Amino acid sequence: LDPHAIAGDSQAILEFLAEYYHDVDKYPVRAADLEPGRVRKLLPEAAPEHGEPMEHILEDVRRDILPGLTHWQSPRFFAFFPMNASSAGLAGEMLSGSTCEAVACTLAAARDRALGRLGGHEAIARLVVYASDQTHATFQKGARLVGIPSSNFRVIRTSAASGYGLTAEAVRAAVDRDVGLGLVPLYLCATVGTTGLGAVDHVRELGEEARRHGMWVHLDAAYAGSAAICPEFQDYLDGAELADSVSMNPHKWFLTNMDCCCLWVARPRDLTSALSTDPEYLKNVGADDGGAGNPAAIDYKDWQISMSRRFRAIKLWVILRRYGAAGMRAHIRRHVAAAKWFEQRVAADERFEVVVPRRFSLVCFRLAPRFGRDDDDGDDATNHVNRDLLAAVNASGRAFITHFVVDGKFVIRLAVGGASTELQHVMEVWDLLQGKAAEVLQHYVK
Ligand code: PLP
Repeated sequence: LDPHAIAGDSQAILEFLAEYYHDVDKYPVRAADLEPGRVRKLLPEAAPEHGEPMEHILEDVRRDILPGLTHWQSPRFFAFFPMNASSAGLAGEMLSGSTCEAVACTLAAARDRALGRLGGHEAIARLVVYASDQTHATFQKGARLVGIPSSNFRVIRTSAASGYGLTAEAVRAAVDRDVGLGLVPLYLCATVGTTGLGAVDHVRELGEEARRHGMWVHLDAAYAGSAAICPEFQDYLDGAELADSVSMNPHKWFLTNMDCCCLWVARPRDLTSALSTDPEYLKNVGADDGGAGNPAAIDYKDWQISMSRRFRAIKLWVILRRYGAAGMRAHIRRHVAAAKWFEQRVAADERFEVVVPRRFSLVCFRLAPRFGRDDDDGDDATNHVNRDLLAAVNASGRAFITHFVVDGKFVIRLAVGGASTELQHVMEVWDLLQGKAAEVLQHYVK
């Protein structure tokens, strides 16, 4: 977040928007060129390797994108219910920073696909969903929303032996038990880069196992998916082609402002069968293909829960153009290098221990057990010391760090990923941690 670049880029955008709003009533209100896929044909297949100036990007927006837009802010827009925008709203938006419904939508798609096969809605009581004890809570919420009975959520235990990744063996055991009871395996959520520990599930093994049982596999790469822009992290996604759906959140680690969630689905029809609606008030010349069934005309309202959508794709496109693939790789590698530096310092300090090996830019560590209370070296004492350390660091106002609990251990998580976080900040937080550790340990070690 270079302040000069913010000012320069924002200025260019503001001038562009001022001109756009000045002229908005001169454009044909509905997209002049309704041919589906026209803009896609104009866009290159891949992101540029090197970043480009904002002025070039805006020229392309003016030339290629504006003619394909329906101008919802035109004073001549009288369709549906118009959408509001204002200069105060725009200013407020710039000061702010919503979330990923991808999992709920894919669960609905998997549910309807399975119910179609099983021949009726009553079978919903037999559908079972699987995830690990490291899977994000979004998954349980999604399963509840689509009507899966909570007694049919399987939370499979992971362990240090697999780096807290879910294994096919564990899934097989759970599935075999359920099938033996007459239940139907529906959906498996695999994660690359879990929230608590940054753990990685064995995607290929899990994909193969799930296919054997006709289960939908969702790959949640919300955080770590961003790292896949670097070849050295792509092996973690090995087997992703076996997934029915994959999601990643560029707002976590891809220089993208809140919010933006990318969802890829192998067969969009599964999603649209579960989520599409066709009310009369949304029929218009643009969307109605007259029964021709033109598959190029995608109506994204049928891919999601809500109806209205923001044009988030343009945000991601501007980011890729502005920073280029090389710039994005440098951003990821800068954080990974800083996290690696931190992990090495932790490992070299005998007071601390790294709890799970770092894979991306999340370091999970704690004060080691021997520095717990001398009358009790158990996890409770160690957890107390670590809680106190974390509270002291956060109370200083000089850093904010959060924790996780695994196998009864209170673990401190240093998530390096802020857009403006540099090695210098990580060095400073290490100094802070060392100082606070010395203070806290004084209370415990006589
Ligand atoms: N999946 C994983 C692995 C996450 O870490 C998170 C958030 O931390 C989510 C899903 C949900 O992300 P969001 O609420 O930003 O959509």
